[in-house]
Amino acid sequence: MRAYLMSLAVAVPALLAACSNNAPTQPEGAAAPGLANPVGAAAVTAERLIADSDPGVWLTAGRNYHEDRFSPLDQISDSNVKNLGLAWYSDIDTERGQESTPVVVDGVLYLTTAWSMVKAYDITSGAKIWEYDPKIDRAKGADACCDVVNRGVAAWNGKIYVGTIDGRLIALNGRTGSVVWEKQTTDTSLPYTITGVPRIVKGKVVIGNGGAEYRVRGYVTAYDAETGEQVWRWYSVPGDPAQPFEQPELAEAAKTWNGEWWKLGGGGTIWDGMAYDPELDTLYVGTGNGTPWNQAIRSPGGGDNLYLSSIVALDPNTGGYKWHYQTTPAETWDYTATQPIMIADLNYPTGKRRVVMQAPKNGFFYVLDAKTGELLSAEKFAPLTWATHVDMKTGRPVEIPSARFDKTGIPVIVAPGALGMHNWHPMAFSPETGYVYLPVTHSNAAYAGPKEFKVNLQGWNTGTDFAGGSSLYSQPGAPPRGNVESYILAYDPIAGKEVFRIKNDVYGASGLLATSGNLIFSGNHKGEFVAYRADNGEKLWSAPTQARVVAAASTFLVNGQQHVAILVGARGLPEGQARTNPVSGNNSRILVFKAGGTAKLPEALEKSSEPLKVTIDPPLLTANNETVAEGEQGFRNNCATCHGGQAVAAAGSIGPDLRYSALLRDVAAWNGAVLEGNRAQRGMPGFKASLRPGESEAIQAYVIREANSEKARQEAAVAAASAGR
Ligand code: CA
Repeated sequence: MRAYLMSLAVAVPALLAACSNNAPTQPEGAAAPGLANPVGAAAVTAERLIADSDPGVWLTAGRNYHEDRFSPLDQISDSNVKNLGLAWYSDIDTERGQESTPVVVDGVLYLTTAWSMVKAYDITSGAKIWEYDPKIDRAKGADACCDVVNRGVAAWNGKIYVGTIDGRLIALNGRTGSVVWEKQTTDTSLPYTITGVPRIVKGKVVIGNGGAEYRVRGYVTAYDAETGEQVWRWYSVPGDPAQPFEQPELAEAAKTWNGEWWKLGGGGTIWDGMAYDPELDTLYVGTGNGTPWNQAIRSPGGGDNLYLSSIVALDPNTGGYKWHYQTTPAETWDYTATQPIMIADLNYPTGKRRVVMQAPKNGFFYVLDAKTGELLSAEKFAPLTWATHVDMKTGRPVEIPSARFDKTGIPVIVAPGALGMHNWHPMAFSPETGYVYLPVTHSNAAYAGPKEFKVNLQGWNTGTDFAGGSSLYSQPGAPPRGNVESYILAYDPIAGKEVFRIKNDVYGASGLLATSGNLIFSGNHKGEFVAYRADNGEKLWSAPTQARVVAAASTFLVNGQQHVAILVGARGLPEGQARTNPVSGNNSRILVFKAGGTAKLPEALEKSSEPLKVTIDPPLLTANNETVAEGEQGFRNNCATCHGGQAVAAAGSIGPDLRYSALLRDVAAWNGAVLEGNRAQRGMPGFKASLRPGESEAIQAYVIREANSEKARQEAAVAAASAGR
């Protein structure tokens, strides 16, 4: 048994009962006051989901089947939000990115954390009822392109479902956290991961996966929610055409591919956005980028490469294909279309239309007819530079030819970069204002083809040279490098226009919640949780989070009073923020607010008043410049994802700062970790299969050079400080 009933949750009611002479005794399984179902019942049904008539609960990560993240609750409003205070909080015991939206049903708040762990809290007291750890082999972290995150649970018929970073789908008892069933949904010999939220449709659990930076083939699978038996699977890209196609439409799709794309899987992973429309009985899924990114390598000779970067409508009963819309034909920049998908009824001047909406990485906001897939609108929501516009007759983007580094062979700066103008961070739609609230990250990146493409069995296979175009940024007229600015955009999907924007002081995206109180709620990377007016973006209230926030909030009723919950914690701490959580380096926590809440976040664990000193002690650099240069390229290709660009593990990095590593002094120990995987259980796999002979030592030499640069910088700072004393 991997779930643990928390002694606190058991002990507190017993203690209260002992202290009170006439404490009411509650029979096992009885409903708590104000609840129709017993606490922990997780009694989510099709009727309950479709009716969407109880604003006091938050039944799915996206709140409802529409995934609009709009709450009809209005107790907390633009006129009284200033009275919000912290009701309770609970420390989270992991220090990676926390991306889940709390699901709240039948008196319990369920969330997931990094490493696919699940936690359940009593919404009244904040007491942890249970927690579940799927015990992920930490070496699996190397297969996660973008941290070992998880975006939340699904609740259904007494059970809580979670997809794990190692590709399992697990059903837990909603009341106890014990495992009901468990299913491996992926080939464990391939670098598949799951970070997305399971969706429950007609008694089936639907789950996709990720891994398109590596070498996998995308698909989505439906399992029987009660037994875990597979019901159907839909592949987003064709496999080897010498074999029978699993689905009839893949024969057509295969005509849009060239070469031997299936050998690296082709990509097209369905790792995040999905929505189900019960009226049309249609499931919408978003598909990811191609593998490798570079289309000239992936599909030499071109082709649209269906169904990469597409919104696809499926029959949820069979997985049968209904229609698709491809946002980025012949994708070559990592422009996934697996961002959140939302269903809405929009009131056009010509009448009401049921639509699906998505703002994928590529920077266009798409509105499609939910029934037919007809393109209704495709407008830029950020200053992208890969296409001028979408031709509404053909539905295709009109590309800017120079952006296609794969065709021209010339390195080029393109906006957005691979992280997109919008990534997974949830958007929200208020039917009351008519606006979609979208977290926008205006970024760019230099794209260049590789000198030579070699399959990497352990790492990324993007077919691009990340350093190849970096000199472009020093040329006259070049844009600022990388992250330009981030903001919350209020977007009118009918007019296809920006209404207003709220700029972030610190770059970074955070998920959104909209409510009927004329409010939107969002965290930020400065360390705040903020309420803004939904109709004009005015900042009305904020509370410190002591952590960066990337997840989206949810809202619900506790004994009739509206509460707002947000899971905080992302890579690194906000600037100037001290650590206050003894079990999480980035102060990961669940924070729950209500009017008049008086709970306080803790003070810093320790106050540092030590004088400035040199903290780094690398060995002398003995390698020559050629070796260091080779090591720099090797570092970029294999290490930078986790250990930071330029070997600086700043706030954004997953792994430790190698410049401080004791292994720099011991080449055998270094090779043991880098090549042999001696630290696999700490999340550092061996890279023997992907490094050339001597490359590990070259990477060490490069890190030693960078460490000595840092030592010189620190020595200068200490000298300046003592001179000023
Ligand atoms: Ca990708």
